[in-house]
Amino acid sequence: MSFEALGLHASLVKAVTEAGYLKPTAVQEQAIPAAIGGRDLLVSSQTGSGKTAAFMLPSLNKFANIEPAPMSRTPAQEAQSARSRGERVRFKPAQPKMLVLTPTRELALQVTTATEQYTTSMRRIRAVSILGGMPYPKQMQLLSKNPEILVATPGRLIDHMESGKIDFSQLEILVLDEADRMLDMGFIEDIEKIVAATPETRQTMLFSATLDGVVGNMARRITKDPLTIQI
Ligand code: AMP
Repeated sequence: MSFEALGLHASLVKAVTEAGYLKPTAVQEQAIPAAIGGRDLLVSSQTGSGKTAAFMLPSLNKFANIEPAPMSRTPAQEAQSARSRGERVRFKPAQPKMLVLTPTRELALQVTTATEQYTTSMRRIRAVSILGGMPYPKQMQLLSKNPEILVATPGRLIDHMESGKIDFSQLEILVLDEADRMLDMGFIEDIEKIVAATPETRQTMLFSATLDGVVGNMARRITKDPLTIQI
């Protein structure tokens, strides 16, 4: 099986080839075509299985087909021109299309780095990390560019949501990476709050070492007719 045969856009096939991937891993082979088809996924797989590409490549594939509005301006540019007209500027919340929740800063940064690698020839798509411990002014600056993809740890994301910096009404894809670890770390209430702020119409992909017990219950509650993949 090749990456082309999974249905990926040529620019993504080129990016993974340049990253040195010769062929899809087992989880990618099952997850990518189903996710391109719009299915929700429940995936039991370990770190090292290639799970990041399994959710990020089909998501980017969806965004690769969307043409940007001609001459569209970022919220930061709009604010600048409003200021030059002497108008009062209200902060416009970021409206991401995709959110990836991870248990730790390290994992969030890994996901963001992989995304940058896969989007080298898709310059319009920006991914930013929203992490505990990162200075607020820096994060406000990142959010003001209205990135398409947010990669976040749950606690810090809630702070920004509650202060009106992020609006999830345009969210199309929600990923919970290492969901079992997020629950072990006590993030269940934050996750429930975040999920409740996203549209019912979203596509949801949940990755976890195990799909039993509490994580299985949550997984079934937040997905619709999911394809279960056990690697
Ligand atoms: P992950 O399980 O997402 O943490 O990925 C583990 C490592 O495998 C990362 O360094 C990826 O860049 C790499 N990787 C992902 N997919 C492939 C593939 N199809 N072929 C070779 N390496 C891959």
